[in-house]
Order: sequence, then C-alpha cells, then structure tokens
Amino acid sequence: MRTPAAPDRGRFVVLVVEDDDIVGRHLETGLRSNGYAPTWSHTGPGALTEASQASYDVLLLDLGLPDMDGLDIARTLRARLPDLLIIILTARTDDIDVIAGLDAGADDYLVKPFSLTILLARLRAHLRRRTFTSPPPEPVTLGDLVLDTVAADGRR
Ligand code: CA
Repeated sequence: MRTPAAPDRGRFVVLVVEDDDIVGRHLETGLRSNGYAPTWSHTGPGALTEASQASYDVLLLDLGLPDMDGLDIARTLRARLPDLLIIILTARTDDIDVIAGLDAGADDYLVKPFSLTILLARLRAHLRRRTFTSPPPEPVTLGDLVLDTVAADGRR
C-alpha cells in the first residue's frame, strides 16, 4: 500500500544521524516501512561524508552526538544544501537549544522521546509541497544536440 508520503518520482531519501543504536534502528525501520529510503550514520563526520556523496531530501539530526556538535552539522549542511529539509531530534528541551537549532539552519525539531507517527506526519507536512512542485527536468542542449529526457520516454 502506498503511503501519502510516497511521491511519484520515487522515495524520499533520508539521512538519519543518530549515535544511539535503539533510536537509530527504530528510525531506520520505521522510515523504511513507511515508504522512505533511509541511510543511517552513527557519527557526525560520517554524516558529512555521506551527505556529500549522495543526494538527500531530508536530514534527521540528533544534536547529542559524542564526536561532533549536531549544530555544526546543521550549519555546514544548510550552507552547502539549501533545499535539504533538516529536522533536529533533541533531548534538550530548553528554549535556547530549540532556538539555536532553528537558527543553525534546521527547519523543524522534535524533542525526544518522540512518537514515530508524529515524525511521519511532520515529514508529510514538510514534503507535501515538494512532491507537486518539482518541475520536469529541462532539456539539455549541447551545441546542435538537444537531449530531452522527458520527451524521450513520452512524458512531454
Ligand atoms: Ca545521541
């Protein structure tokens, strides 16, 4: 059965950054069974490497990593990838931490412990517009040659 989150172009690709095994596995399993394509990184540096090697739609970012401040990851990836949806997962409940996370480039946050159904609803809400607003790719022109990948498969 298709979930509302599954767009026509394929599954949303999610990078999960979480050092906790139980939380990470819960997220990975829950996302996969709800139509997302998750990759789980246990470390901050690993997440930065992963994000530079593949195209992600969503970053689910634990702020409390042992090897790196999650806020630095948010800042770095926001600067590099303006379209990336960044949702912070934090055990920190002070207002100042939430403000710092949003100011670092996050689009939203969830305070641990959170429910998977709430996370999925937030993802749907954020990703809803992306599903319908992505334009088809423009034809590529190389000299006299026009490569139209949409027309080639009958969609234009
Ligand atoms: Ca953690």
